[in-house]
Amino acid sequence: MSSMADHLAKAIQIPTISHQNPNEMDYKTFHKFHQFLANTYPLCHKHMKVEKINQLSLLYKWEGRDLQLNPIIFAAHIDVVPIAHGTLQDWTYPPFEGIVAEDYLWGRGTMDCKCFLIGLMEAAEALLNQGFQPHRTIYFAFGHDEEVKGFNGAKQIAELLASRNIQAEMVIDEGGFIINGAAIGIHKNITTIGICEKGTLTLQLQATAQGGHSSIPPKRTAIGEIAKAIDRIQTHPLPAELTPITLAMFKSLMPHLPAALRFAIKNTWLLAGIMKKILSKNDVTNALIRTTIAPTILQSGTKENVLPQEARLILNIRLLPGQNVDGVINHIRKVIANPEIGIEIYEAPFLASPISDINSEAYHLLVKTIQEVFPGTVAAPNLLTGMTDSRFYYKICKNVFRFSPLRLSNEDKDRPHGTNERISLSNFQEIIDFYLHLMKNI
Ligand SMILES: [Zn+2]
Repeated sequence: MSSMADHLAKAIQIPTISHQNPNEMDYKTFHKFHQFLANTYPLCHKHMKVEKINQLSLLYKWEGRDLQLNPIIFAAHIDVVPIAHGTLQDWTYPPFEGIVAEDYLWGRGTMDCKCFLIGLMEAAEALLNQGFQPHRTIYFAFGHDEEVKGFNGAKQIAELLASRNIQAEMVIDEGGFIINGAAIGIHKNITTIGICEKGTLTLQLQATAQGGHSSIPPKRTAIGEIAKAIDRIQTHPLPAELTPITLAMFKSLMPHLPAALRFAIKNTWLLAGIMKKILSKNDVTNALIRTTIAPTILQSGTKENVLPQEARLILNIRLLPGQNVDGVINHIRKVIANPEIGIEIYEAPFLASPISDINSEAYHLLVKTIQEVFPGTVAAPNLLTGMTDSRFYYKICKNVFRFSPLRLSNEDKDRPHGTNERISLSNFQEIIDFYLHLMKNI
């Protein structure tokens, strides 16, 4: 095993797990991780200024040769998600041992996202070893709580940089991947570059009813009302919308698409309806063209012969850019058509992020670097349906791009956050190469 893979294995062995409940957090693992980085990357720690933010996040500053230029920020996160209850025995190799087998390194964080964090450190250490100094200043921003929303890590880092009047030329964070285009009829690899991420909104719906004995049930029950509401919501989705991001994505993919789809896109104005229909059919593309609503928690009843007086439903909603909260609530009110069901906001919402500029020099440079390291791939801008730390950096940068040089095959797509997370040793080497190229190209 190369020393680089060995370093990633050691990083996996430190279980920096984020828990929703702060009382479950083991902060010692984060301090241990900091120490591991200091021991493993002596040149980075000698030539860069390292700051701890909120004690657990790290900000590295590698000063460039030209201080007039705006810096570039490479973001990654230190934390990983826990192993879901009852799934530990499903792992082929234990999740926190960093085992290499079958040309893969296995473990929690190998894909999301210690491979990028360690990849960045490896690239920088190698460049420093050659006496390299970047043209413009480079920051490494390593948050510690991305998996639980990033408020104490990345958000604080972005605010600190903003307070120092720093404007970044580009932010590169996790998000886009290298995927096989076969699913959409493209016989090449596609690199998706996230230029925007959807917002989130969580709503609670509540129905109340008369309680009593279940032997004399009334026509109307709390559970029945909520069940009707779920059905109405699922059969009446919000309207589809071809956002500028989706159109830009298809414009990039167009020369490589099958003829029928190419024709539809060329005539978007005429055929927007057909395109929306095609894209609605697949869950993944459907999520790119509409604000989605998913029922995630349903609670009611405690005893088999008692009519519950209350039923509660949680809806997790992902907002398209331009979609506001009131619009969604009004839509739900209208489709459930039941004024007796209460609707309230369950958790502070986030609107979709701004849209990064794909006509910027930064975007072109990123695409050029991708082509250098992964020749023959098709780069396309993309909308992220999930959330990343990068949304906080719009405060100090308009070129925030979510791209990680991870090859995500169909077979591997459920492994991040799931069971048997793993990265191939060759892909890890590519990740390091990519960061090396980008650090030189900037
Ligand atoms: Zn991640």
